[in-house]
Amino acid sequence: MEAIQDHTIAFTGLKDGEHTFHFVLEQPFFDASGEEEWEGGRVDVEVTLDKSTYLLVCNLHATGPVQLRCDRCNAPLEFPLDGKQRQIFSLTGGEESDDDELVTLSDTAHSINLTHYIYECLRLALPIRHVHAPGQCDPEVEKVLERLIVDHEPTPDPRWEVLKELKNKESK
Ligand SMILES: [Zn+2]
Repeated sequence: MEAIQDHTIAFTGLKDGEHTFHFVLEQPFFDASGEEEWEGGRVDVEVTLDKSTYLLVCNLHATGPVQLRCDRCNAPLEFPLDGKQRQIFSLTGGEESDDDELVTLSDTAHSINLTHYIYECLRLALPIRHVHAPGQCDPEVEKVLERLIVDHEPTPDPRWEVLKELKNKESK
C-alpha cells in the first residue's frame, strides 16, 4: 500500500532512547489500503521507537474495531483487532536491503515511513475467516441456510435398507 504522509517519522532529530508516536486509522486509511474486505474502522496504533546509534527498533501495537463482513451471512461484522509487530531499521548504512525483519536504511535517510508496516500489522492480526458468534448471524440468512441444510439431508442409502432387512431375517 502507498505511503501515507502522516506515518513518516523524522528520526535524525531524535535523541537516543525511547519515543512514542500515535496514529489513528480511519476511513481514508481503509479506503487507501485497497483491501475490499476492510470496510472501515477506527484503529489506534501506538509506535514505540527505540533509537540507538546503529538501530531503530519500532514496536507497533494496533487496537480497535475493524468493519468486515461475515463469511457466513454477509452482514456487517465488527472485529476487535489487536495486533503487534516489530520492525528494525539498521542505520549502519551501506547496501540498502529489505528483508522481513531488518531493513537497512541508506546513509542519507533521515526519516522512515510506517504505512507499509502498519498495513502488515493489521493484515496479520485479522483472521482469514471471520464469522459472527453462534446465533449472531442475520436471522433471515440463518433461516435460508437452515432450510438448505435440511434440503440436503442425505436420504438413507437404499442398500442399507436391504442389509437391515437381511439382518432381521437372519435373527429370526
Ligand atoms: Zn454472520
